[in-house]
Amino acid sequence: MSEISQTILQTSFDEIGEIIRSHQSFIIMSHVRPDGDAIGSQLALGCSLLAANKTVRMIHQDGVPENLAFMAGAELIEPPPSEPILADVAIALDTAAKPRLGDAVIHAASKAKIWLNIDHHLSNPGYGDLNRIDPTSPATGQIIYQLITSQKLPLPAASRDAIYIAVSTDTGSFQYPSTSAETYELAADLVRRGLEVGKINTQLYDSYPFRRIELMRRLLNSLERHADGRIAAWEMRDQTRVELELVPDDSEGLIDLIRAIRGVEVAVFFEELPEGKIRVSMRSKNPLYNVCEIAVALGGGGHALAAGIRMAGPLETAKKLVLDAIKNQLAKI
Ligand code: 5GP
Ligand code: MN
Repeated sequence: MSEISQTILQTSFDEIGEIIRSHQSFIIMSHVRPDGDAIGSQLALGCSLLAANKTVRMIHQDGVPENLAFMAGAELIEPPPSEPILADVAIALDTAAKPRLGDAVIHAASKAKIWLNIDHHLSNPGYGDLNRIDPTSPATGQIIYQLITSQKLPLPAASRDAIYIAVSTDTGSFQYPSTSAETYELAADLVRRGLEVGKINTQLYDSYPFRRIELMRRLLNSLERHADGRIAAWEMRDQTRVELELVPDDSEGLIDLIRAIRGVEVAVFFEELPEGKIRVSMRSKNPLYNVCEIAVALGGGGHALAAGIRMAGPLETAKKLVLDAIKNQLAKI
């Protein structure tokens, strides 16, 4: 797996800094079904460039999810316009594959002179004219922090908070193994720059809508264990989305609950999507067990310990394919 990104020519922070200094207008983008790292990276870089007096359009196909609407600058993120934006540089953030930006965003950015791709996904093929893909980084937000500080770009309060949110959400609150000394140093630096840790964590983690807990109850009722308890899986029918009036981010992070069971090495979440496709989310707790390999084999992607797939339904068929693949791999360890 790791050879994928090693074959990509990496652009240095100085080169990216030079592109920023020598151009005036920018489009900043991130992936559909955005999480904290996607929106956080977008706002962090976007607000920094605005503070540097650049012309910036932050566009998103799905918009800012309800749970991140409190973020400073969230109102600056707009739907992609129907006509291509005339800008010098388009920057894709946290987006492992170009189609994950969404068709409307790709069209809106199609006239940009330079495409820059900044990401931390192992499976990113390097679809930009210039690419900086660092799979050792726990969050794209950490790469943006390195870019901003190394190039002495402005770090306004909105960017400071957005970097924290990006990194905190992609590291499971600074817990996953990819969290490094550098990550804690980044957090310490942001606190010294005025970040209010208690306030921001309450906004992020203590403000869930009740329907998310109702979803948790439904999911717990579907919980299954396989391979002598090494695999835990649960599933959600589309009917549940309809009944509980769920929005996509209501299920964000719930998989961590079953990943946390003693003895579980792989957690899997199967979600029936409205159009009949199945969204598969996988988490590994065993560094020897790479769920990205399973995901890539079945048409998805992601990271060694967190990966996902969109596959054909029905749910039972997708479930059998994925669970059999995981069981086969687990038997070898
Ligand atoms: P999640 O399970 O949180 O949706 O995604 C975990 C990781 O897997 C994310 O880094 C995400 O980019 C990647 N991922 C999730 N779903 C897909 C997919 O359908 N295709 C690809 N290529 N990557 C995915
Ligand atoms: Mn990310």
